[in-house]
Amino acid sequence: MTTVDEHLERILAAVAPTRPRRAGLEQAHGCVLAADVRATVALPGFDNSAMDGYAVRAADVAEATEDAPTTLPVVDDIPAGPGTPAPLEPGTAARIMTGAPLPRGADAVVQLEWTDGGRESVAVRRPAGRGLHIRRAGEDVAPGALVLPAGTVIGSAQIGLLAAVNVARPPVHPRPRVAVLSTGTELVEVGSPLGAGQIVDSNSHGIAAAAREAGAVVRRLAGVPDEPDAFGKALHGVLGDVDAVVTTGGVSVGAYDVVKEVLTGTGSVRFDQVAMQPGKPQGFGLVEGVPIFTLPGNPASALISFELFVRPALQRMRGLAATGLPRIVVTVGTELRSPPGRRTFVRVGLDRLGDDGRPGPATVARPAGGQGSHQLTSLAGAQALLIVPEDVTEVPVGARLSALLLGADSGAILSRMGWADTDTTDKGTGPSEPIAR
Ligand code: AMP
Ligand code: MG
Repeated sequence: MTTVDEHLERILAAVAPTRPRRAGLEQAHGCVLAADVRATVALPGFDNSAMDGYAVRAADVAEATEDAPTTLPVVDDIPAGPGTPAPLEPGTAARIMTGAPLPRGADAVVQLEWTDGGRESVAVRRPAGRGLHIRRAGEDVAPGALVLPAGTVIGSAQIGLLAAVNVARPPVHPRPRVAVLSTGTELVEVGSPLGAGQIVDSNSHGIAAAAREAGAVVRRLAGVPDEPDAFGKALHGVLGDVDAVVTTGGVSVGAYDVVKEVLTGTGSVRFDQVAMQPGKPQGFGLVEGVPIFTLPGNPASALISFELFVRPALQRMRGLAATGLPRIVVTVGTELRSPPGRRTFVRVGLDRLGDDGRPGPATVARPAGGQGSHQLTSLAGAQALLIVPEDVTEVPVGARLSALLLGADSGAILSRMGWADTDTTDKGTGPSEPIAR
């Protein structure tokens, strides 16, 4: 049998980041920068006021006090907008709004609240130090400075910054395009009436959602019957348009296992028994240069296999480190058994408990329900996959094991569990964790 790590290594050796391309900001959202972005402009682009108030020469208001305000003639009114204001002569003030260009000669802005707000002349009640309430050109980003390094995930703040430095089309790794293809003559599309022996195709929806959560653009091809011609046609119909294909079903040892039948000996596709539970039958390889992941058909196996093998591959394709799901160390709250020689992924809920059973420091993992490879409720109710190493067959209560955090909002789980700012997160990718007690 192949180990989980060997199978993943073989996959990661075969996939590469998508070819960089310039994309508009809306398309770039959620993508990874493919190259450093340097500023061609300064940010701010010009000296401007940080306040509504009056542009002055600091020396002119140095003596101003509440009891003896300094009065200056107001010679200009400068709103935010295009154009260059006239230089400010000594002994004068210009009314100025936030973001408006500072007139040459002015070296401070007196905020409106320190004045009488006058339009013809203004009484200033406090002195203003040089530079007060002035945003200097380039103080956020200097021309030529590194704005965002390659490898940055482009989220809302990054989009805002790119726009601010006038980069309309940053270089990105485009989202991988993934075809999701479910096989099974028994499958019908969700929402349809079921005849005898038919089941709803849940995999294509679940896997498509997982791929979208992992940053892919998904094309779903549902319910391909277990006929070699139909499968071959469906597969070759998408190969030219996608960066990866994920299939489910048809990879075990039975008759009518169409994926295995068609793809054995095609390209570099290989089918292996992987030493894991659930999800033992796995296949992977390149067909016409396109990575094909053939996941088992049982719904929990398919989704867990996705998390272990497809997610890291998609991370690499997006230009990210192929780290897979975030990993934490948890305390086992229920005695568990696990088959020898297989890495078991137990669908668990997480609780935060102290020794007295009340909320406290330890994150405790307990099975979230039936662990059969066909049972999805436990996966839907789980917050993590507890990893029981190959050499462990009995896990006592209190054992410390690694777990993979599930869910698009695992960041939210992390912070809810209080993990976000602790050092207990295990970022290692090692296969197993020793049991401490
Ligand atoms: P297979 O690997 O094709 O033998 O499928 C294993 C089990 O998973 C069988 O019980 C199938 O009916 C079930 N299964 C296969 N594909 C799907 C699917 N797309 N949605 C839900 N269940 C499926
Ligand atoms: Mg099948």
